[in-house]
Amino acid sequence: MASSTSTGVGSPCGACKFLRRRCTQECVFAPYFDSEQSPAQFAAIHKVFGASNVSKLLAQLPVHLRCDAVVTVAYEAQARIRDPVYGCVAHIFALQKQVAILQAQLMQVKAQLAYQATLPQAANGGSDGDRVLMQLQVMGCKEEPHHHFGELHAMAQRLMRS
Ligand SMILES: [Zn+2]
Repeated sequence: MASSTSTGVGSPCGACKFLRRRCTQECVFAPYFDSEQSPAQFAAIHKVFGASNVSKLLAQLPVHLRCDAVVTVAYEAQARIRDPVYGCVAHIFALQKQVAILQAQLMQVKAQLAYQATLPQAANGGSDGDRVLMQLQVMGCKEEPHHHFGELHAMAQRLMRS
């Protein structure tokens, strides 16, 4: 950890520099916020979560998990500032939508393969591999059904309310 070097006399950590307070040896932010680049990053965290809340959150965590917590809190804060309505949940929705589309495509390919397996061998030309490739190409051009996102969105909102 860089805390022993970055909290020397006269060099507060990035968080304390932003908060204009004295940085002590016990400062919970010091290992993760350097004096030069971090004040701006900490500004976003303070704006969204409040320095005091983040300080309490870090203090409750085992030391070896604090670095990950700082990284994710910074990510969430920046996402919330960019998108005040959805924050990083916008990314989650987009990924859920992608998963739903891919699952639907996979089911279509499986259904197509199952159907073609029932046909007499003479009636369908080309290898199985060719047919799968053709099927994937056809589906790649398709517009995804619109209702997937609507359903996910409604589900996510129900989850957030409960
Ligand atoms: Zn500090």
